[in-house]
Amino acid sequence: MRKPSHSGAWVRARCSNCGTVTVPVGRTALGSEAGDGAVCRVFCYCGAVTDVPVDDRTIELLVAAGAPTEAGKPITEHEIARFAAALDTCNIVEEARSGS
Ligand SMILES: [Zn+2]
Repeated sequence: MRKPSHSGAWVRARCSNCGTVTVPVGRTALGSEAGDGAVCRVFCYCGAVTDVPVDDRTIELLVAAGAPTEAGKPITEHEIARFAAALDTCNIVEEARSGS
């Protein structure tokens, strides 16, 4: 699979019409399913919408790359809480201390 560009992130999805497609983050939206699962909603060039399950790491990358959240909503409190929880598990400060 070619990499279209280094300037910006691209998302690969399996469109029901086109097969595997690669679209820029501008054609995606992050959404949450009921429960824990999050999806990246991919708007294919053909007009079909494909939901791709994504993990937290992928979400962070997509958000950093400018992927919009669904319906243009700002980040929800739930998402902030999950992000904070993820930060808690990193222990960056502790690792820095132990290294000195
Ligand atoms: Zn398509």
